[in-house]
Amino acid sequence: MTEHLSPPTAGCRSTPVLKERGQREVFCGLTGIIWLHRKMQDAFFLVVGSRTCAHLLQSAAGVMIFAEPRFATAILEESDLAGLNDAHAELDRTVSELLARRPDIRQLFLVGSCPSEVIKLDLGRAAERLTVEHAPRVRVLNYSGSGIETTFTQGEDACLASMVPVLPETQARELLVVGALPDVVEDQMLGLLDAMGVGPVRLLPARHIDNTTAVGPNTQFALVQPFLGDTHAALVRRGATHIAAPFPFGDEGTTAWLSAVAHAFGVSDETFARVTEAPRQRARRAIAQASETLNGKSVFFFPDSQLEIPLARFLARECGMQPVEVGSPYIHDALHGPDLDLLPAGPTISEGQDVDKQLDRCMAARPDLTVCGLGLANPLEAQGLSTKWAIELVFTPVHFYEQAGDLASLFARSIKRRAILEAAE
Ligand code: SF4
Repeated sequence: MTEHLSPPTAGCRSTPVLKERGQREVFCGLTGIIWLHRKMQDAFFLVVGSRTCAHLLQSAAGVMIFAEPRFATAILEESDLAGLNDAHAELDRTVSELLARRPDIRQLFLVGSCPSEVIKLDLGRAAERLTVEHAPRVRVLNYSGSGIETTFTQGEDACLASMVPVLPETQARELLVVGALPDVVEDQMLGLLDAMGVGPVRLLPARHIDNTTAVGPNTQFALVQPFLGDTHAALVRRGATHIAAPFPFGDEGTTAWLSAVAHAFGVSDETFARVTEAPRQRARRAIAQASETLNGKSVFFFPDSQLEIPLARFLARECGMQPVEVGSPYIHDALHGPDLDLLPAGPTISEGQDVDKQLDRCMAARPDLTVCGLGLANPLEAQGLSTKWAIELVFTPVHFYEQAGDLASLFARSIKRRAILEAAE
């Protein structure tokens, strides 16, 4: 049912990928806790790390100080790092105190960091031991959010992948939608699927551990985030089948994603058209308005969130932009292939990063808009380039039809700001 999409005569799926393995400028995977703790309302994230990790979380989540926190850092002191203390005994004590104080916690994630990895603290063993101790009230899992192993969106991937092996087994034919979305966006998506008669629909992550998320050989799963490579592999290992599709950004991406799901669940073309017609029209109108500023402008993506390929597809095909380079920390054909098929050939596709070389390419191209991490944005702005922070695209609701206009506006705002600054100079 994706035939109404007209792929370019030459897409980017077979474009040779420029692979770079040098210094990279990205946040670590701890950042994902900021959106995951809002999504999973009975979970707690205990980072086993340093004061630096605590500062990162506190500043990234500064707005949450009035809420009952659902994340914390168990700080490894110098004596822990020097191996003078029994870090496992201390961790057990910290967890027992936490769980005694907070009966609302049903899932506890021990999150590894650079320091815990350097001293080779075995958090997998700790999670097994603590699960036995605190079952059945609390499930304890572990994953790594360290900057050595993960870029910032990989924290969510590692977290969800850690949950897959403990999901209950099911033989039911169900749709599993994978990836954290803001509740309001998730509800819109569930409304569209329900109107098409697709179901039962399960979610990973679910808002509560008691939700009926399970997996088995008749599970078909669709990803809503393009950074879930490990979770994809873990679900396939459990026998589930991936519904490959472009990601639901913009009118076209959303329609293609819904269409792939509808096709897998036998929805008729008439039903599909009836359900999607009105929101598609709204999305098209909103995009057309916001993309007036973007049409004909060039865009350069530094690798950061792994959203780069689907966003480049959206900007090129629906907003009239010309991608110069599309960098992504990792490219998985099973995940990114459908978007690469639709992205018109032309841009350099790069994977990984060698930041100095990439900065040289960017300065030579002088794009109208550069999408990059916080660390690169200020120096590039100082060089007269217009930038967009990649992290904002992860924190802002941008998926599905009703957010398509906002997504285009996020990019347009940066270009308008630069025009105002230049006019004032
Ligand atoms: Fe820094 Fe590593 Fe802690 Fe992330 S995990 S805040 S990169 S020390």
